[in-house]
Amino acid sequence: MKGKGDENMFEIAIIGGGPAGGSAALFTSKAGKRTLVIDNGKSVTKRAWIENHYGVAEITGPDLVEIGRKQSEKFGAEWVEAEVTDVKKTDNGFEIVTEKGRYEAKQLIIATGMLTKIAETLGLKVKAGTEPRVKQIIETDGQGRTSMEGVWAAGVAAGTSVHTIITAGDGANVAINVLSEMNGERYVDHDVLKSSK
Ligand SMILES: Cc1cc2nc3c(=O)[nH]c(=O)nc-3n(C[C@H](O)[C@H](O)[C@H](O)COP(=O)(O)OP(=O)(O)OC[C@H]3O[C@@H](n4cnc5c(N)ncnc54)[C@H](O)[C@@H]3O)c2cc1C
Repeated sequence: MKGKGDENMFEIAIIGGGPAGGSAALFTSKAGKRTLVIDNGKSVTKRAWIENHYGVAEITGPDLVEIGRKQSEKFGAEWVEAEVTDVKKTDNGFEIVTEKGRYEAKQLIIATGMLTKIAETLGLKVKAGTEPRVKQIIETDGQGRTSMEGVWAAGVAAGTSVHTIITAGDGANVAINVLSEMNGERYVDHDVLKSSK
């Protein structure tokens, strides 16, 4: 089991690597924040055939999730395929326990889809879901902040509509709110098309 040296200390840890978590990781890693994504590979999106994701004619759910992972890895996000079994608040932020090791992070984004067990382990406020087949969601302030400072929630776990364009969008929105809070000013990530002339 890996020890808790600096190599296991992250600025942002994201639990859940579906469209919401993967999209959040793309923004936080591209902003230069040391980002960890922990996912157990059980995303419901892996069963989807998607023809209603704006800008993408048609794509399989597994491809969407895999492309998303590669996008964030390009900017340095580190992905660990494991089950998060416990999360504790610490003086430095949060300790995240998996069967593959323990990790620490200053900020936490929970994007666990229909599964909110980890949120309850951490003692976050949860409530009944309103989307079809979504039993429970994590209570947020609409910007992703949960009932615990430093913990954010995105995607289906935060009560969004169950569609990839929306969960990916929410992951991005919450990541921008986290980055804006960390940087003390609103964060914008725009790249400019280089003129062909
Ligand atoms: C059969 C099917 C067809 C669909 N078709 C479409 C469609 O055509 N168009 C569309 O827009 N949407 C479709 N969807 C819905 C879409 O896939 C989801 O609604 C949405 O994208 C979920 O995104 P998410 O990131 O919030 O959650 P998820 O994609 O569920 O990701 C959450 C991830 O967190 C992981 N996780 C949870 N707990 C832990 C833990 N303790 N430790 C580690 N990892 C954890 C999960 O295993 C999962 O990988 C479909 C869904 C299904 C099931």
